Amino acid sequence: MAEQKSTNITWHQSEIDQAAREELLKQKGCVIWFTGLSGSGKSTVANQVAAHLHQSGRITYVLDGDNIRHGLNKNLGFSPEDRQENIRRIGEVAKLFADAGLITTTAFISPYRQDRDAVRDIMSPDRFIEVFVDCPLEVCENRDPKGLYKKARAGELKGFTGIDAPYEAPQSPELVVNTNELDVAGCTEQVIAYLMEHGLTH
Ligand code: ADP
Repeated sequence: MAEQKSTNITWHQSEIDQAAREELLKQKGCVIWFTGLSGSGKSTVANQVAAHLHQSGRITYVLDGDNIRHGLNKNLGFSPEDRQENIRRIGEVAKLFADAGLITTTAFISPYRQDRDAVRDIMSPDRFIEVFVDCPLEVCENRDPKGLYKKARAGELKGFTGIDAPYEAPQSPELVVNTNELDVAGCTEQVIAYLMEHGLTH
């Protein structure tokens, strides 16, 4: 839990609220939180879902691992504490984006169950969709799109998820997409179908 250091602060209710923005945008803001091993396909599917929705006139935003580490979270590394703070900040940003009315997809390994649950806890329950991007470690390692597994195996990268750092798979995610069994288009379709079934897009 992050420490509350500021005092004498008051929450200002803005005149234009989420419902008003959503009416204007004709969509519902939500967070589609992809979690899984490096190379499992989070970024690929998160971007495809956003692109697909964009083409049908929805306003989307992709929050992606490395991009956030270039800016907002540039002062954080990969220790368990920093990973926790990384996810906490991203969760808060995703919450603001959803409140703004955007369909937000996030692509972070987010290996710790407790950290993901903490994000879930700050969100409206019907607006947080945890998607477990399921893919065996061997397959991810074979794909190795960024050459990171190779580095981790060579000992050049310490604390790499799946190699010498843990990954805690979700126990009851809203959705599981298996990128080893379904191609990118199939996985994307599965996510869109979930959103439609739950009235989050049309
Ligand atoms: P992550 O964001 O989880 O680290 P990436 O999306 O960057 O993973 O990389 C996943 C790699 O796996 C890409 O090279 C992608 O083309 C490939 N891939 C193969 N099949 C799938 C699939 N069904 N879904 C997503 N990615 C897939």
